[in-house]
Amino acid sequence: MPERPVTALPLVSMNAADPTNTLMDKIVNLCKRRGVIFQSADIYGGFRSTYDYGPIGSLILRNVKDAWWKTMVQVRHDIVGIDAAILSPPAVWEASGHLENFTDPLVDCKECNERFREDQLDDPLSCPACGAKNSFTEARAFNLMFKTHAGPVEGSGHDVYLRPETAQGMFTNFKLVLETSRKKPPFGIAQIGKSFRNEITPGNFVFRTREFEQMEMEFFVPPEQAEEWYQYWCEQRMKWYIDLGIPEDQLRLRPHDQDELSHYSSGTSDVEFLFPWGWGELEGIANRGDYDLRQHSEHSGEKLTYFDPDLGEHYFPHVIEPAAGATRSMMAFLLAAYDEETVNDGVRTVLRFDPHIAPYKIAILPLSKKDTITPIAHQVFDLVKERWMVDYDETQNIGKRYRRQDELGTPYCVTIDFETLEDQSVTVRDRDSMKQDRVGIDRLVDYLSERLP
Ligand code: ATP
Repeated sequence: MPERPVTALPLVSMNAADPTNTLMDKIVNLCKRRGVIFQSADIYGGFRSTYDYGPIGSLILRNVKDAWWKTMVQVRHDIVGIDAAILSPPAVWEASGHLENFTDPLVDCKECNERFREDQLDDPLSCPACGAKNSFTEARAFNLMFKTHAGPVEGSGHDVYLRPETAQGMFTNFKLVLETSRKKPPFGIAQIGKSFRNEITPGNFVFRTREFEQMEMEFFVPPEQAEEWYQYWCEQRMKWYIDLGIPEDQLRLRPHDQDELSHYSSGTSDVEFLFPWGWGELEGIANRGDYDLRQHSEHSGEKLTYFDPDLGEHYFPHVIEPAAGATRSMMAFLLAAYDEETVNDGVRTVLRFDPHIAPYKIAILPLSKKDTITPIAHQVFDLVKERWMVDYDETQNIGKRYRRQDELGTPYCVTIDFETLEDQSVTVRDRDSMKQDRVGIDRLVDYLSERLP
């Protein structure tokens, strides 16, 4: 059962951009092979840019969201959570400015009829699909919101939109949350949920999809404190990714240039990750002023100000918004965790996830399917299942099962063998060092508690 030692350093490094995209291919392949992410509607040939999260992927995604929720809501007394509707009427998007401004510049190639986002073309004069020169139409503003209708009747008056961001739910509920939660500025409202954008050029796996999940928080502050809180949230949000295992040299905080800022923003910084094709945004942190509350106040007629009893005055709080992508962050966690190393007889692929992100924390692996071993293996599973997410696998030889767990990023494998029947002990194998400890079943929960969240 002991494995052979490691003889070489990791083969795959994320320290530099990977122009050949081999790492992406490996990740996409692993995701399909191990049940992490599947192309949606695969049996019908697949639905472009839409993905389903399989048994493993749904656990990883949940862990990313849980880690965010814990940091942003659970351990703070100044932030509350909500879960707002995905469908909303045009009035919301008129007030937010999305109906008018949530657009990307769209161009068509007159030769091959492919469509592109003008601002993402490497060469604005040459079609990346057919190579034609100067074949693009004039750019026109293409609104990214998905529109549908509510009820059986189509037509104006029944139009509704799928939200393109979760943020507006926090603004439209500002007054109700303020009244019911006993919070006062500085305080925040957080939400995790699906958003939809009719992206012109989705791609790079789950980096840019038309349906994705966001983790957003609106932090409402007295105007004079806005700059201070903006700096605070930039630091906090960088720290979150680092604490969860993304190496610092694969992350950067990029302040927007003046000409990138929206007219109401006095500062925006992106947390960027070094993807195989270069730096890409994971999260934007924006100092939004009082734009959102003022807009919704004017459009709805509701007074969305806060009355400060000490000052004896009403004011519009300013908003600091850290807006992250859950699905996009998950991809960054996957890329950062991916590692290969040569053990004597070949290459071992390991996802070195932080235990918070790892889909399973433990795998219970009975050495044989024999009746004598199964009951005790079930007992061990029962011992740990309430506390942690645990896999139970009794198929194939133990070497293959270890490899599978390495590829899932499971921090600890617990093997039950024939000796277990004699000495009431199990073998615990560490994912990263592959070291094995013999641990008494009566000490197992303590042993794992010292090592796992
Ligand atoms: P981008 O410039 O990449 O289009 P954005 O600046 O429009 O992103 P925001 O509106 O700030 O993005 O959304 C916050 C976060 O939501 C992004 O940092 C990203 O992680 C995520 N996100 C936005 N659009 C998508 C998408 N189409 N697919 C997956 N995640 C997305």
